[in-house]
Amino acid sequence: MNDRVILHVDQNCFYASVEMLRRPELKKVPCAVAGDPDNRHGIILAKNQLAKEAGVKTGEAIWEANLKCRDLVLVPPDFACYLHYSRLASELYREYTDRVESFGIDECWLDLTGCRNDDGFAVAEEIRARVRHELGLTCSIGVSWNKVYAKLGSDLNKPDGTTHITRANAKSVVYPLPANALLYVGPATIRKLRRIGVKTIGELIALGPNYLQKRFGIVGLKLFRFAAGLDTAPVAMSGHESPVKSIGNSITTRHDLCTEDDIRAVTYMLSESVASRLRSADMAARTIQVSLRDDQLNHIERQTPLLHPTQLCTELAPQAFELIMANRMSDQRIRSLGVRACKLIPVARLRQQSYLFSEKKRELLFDLEVTVDHLRKRYGGLSVRRGISLVDRTLTEHDIRSENVVHPVGVFGS
Ligand SMILES: [Mg+2]
Repeated sequence: MNDRVILHVDQNCFYASVEMLRRPELKKVPCAVAGDPDNRHGIILAKNQLAKEAGVKTGEAIWEANLKCRDLVLVPPDFACYLHYSRLASELYREYTDRVESFGIDECWLDLTGCRNDDGFAVAEEIRARVRHELGLTCSIGVSWNKVYAKLGSDLNKPDGTTHITRANAKSVVYPLPANALLYVGPATIRKLRRIGVKTIGELIALGPNYLQKRFGIVGLKLFRFAAGLDTAPVAMSGHESPVKSIGNSITTRHDLCTEDDIRAVTYMLSESVASRLRSADMAARTIQVSLRDDQLNHIERQTPLLHPTQLCTELAPQAFELIMANRMSDQRIRSLGVRACKLIPVARLRQQSYLFSEKKRELLFDLEVTVDHLRKRYGGLSVRRGISLVDRTLTEHDIRSENVVHPVGVFGS
């Protein structure tokens, strides 16, 4: 069987590049996009080359960045605009293949296998030139026969470069790279690998699948497969995702919920995850539904329409909480709780009707919640938390069940 042809496209300094596009004067100064620039404790989300040279790092606090770079120019994020450019880029990729899988706002995998033009390197060079010419942005592209190596490749030639990892050069290109260059290898795995003397991908591969599996279980085996270029995960087919009818989360808590504070904390936690998934799916909810089961295993489900379609936790959670409190008897002990966003509508359709962001305050809330999504993607789910969720950590620090209810193909909730 022939190898697949997979590209991974990574926009360079995406947020900062879009800002420089809109305000070219920013190209001449060190600048960074930062959440909440008025607050010294806000965080750097992206920076340009000059800021990078001054040592500014993504994820650090503004005050830390200012210590290294006193004339750093800070710009607040404009996610709606970044999303616009992200979509333009995806549209461009889709001219080459219908298999385009986005990974965050600024990265995509493309599978060119079997496409009219399946010369991976040539297509990568063309895409890079077109992104520069048509969008005014630069990207780095990795080309390989699997997603993991393609992603590795897109990290190697920044900015504006292509790296082709082939069967012939994989040993010389991939093996010397640090193990943390591999997709999904986080600090905890790196510490474990350090303990057994592994620093590079080559050293990891040399241990072999059996040893790694014995030492780290199924994760070890996966690690080996990623490192050795054996990953066979497909690139998701765009336009073939099933339309989602509702998005919900539920939880059975470690102890029954008796107080209003506990119920509020869990409701907000569930709603946050629902809101974040609504944003990933680019959907807004028109109805909120709650379900609760008490310690006698009585089950109730209630729903109410929302004032306007939303994908904000700030708007979903209070409604959900109110609905729960209105339907809970005063001494009822709640064992499990669910929050579900229903009657979903694609945000694209709302934007045409332009009432999603009709008010400035909602727009700011949207930016805030997207910033938090971004931080959680980078630093983990517990990196940013609502004060409200800290009443009792045992309630809110374990995994919640999530579930999308999917329509038969082609029908949106209405
Ligand atoms: Mg990027």
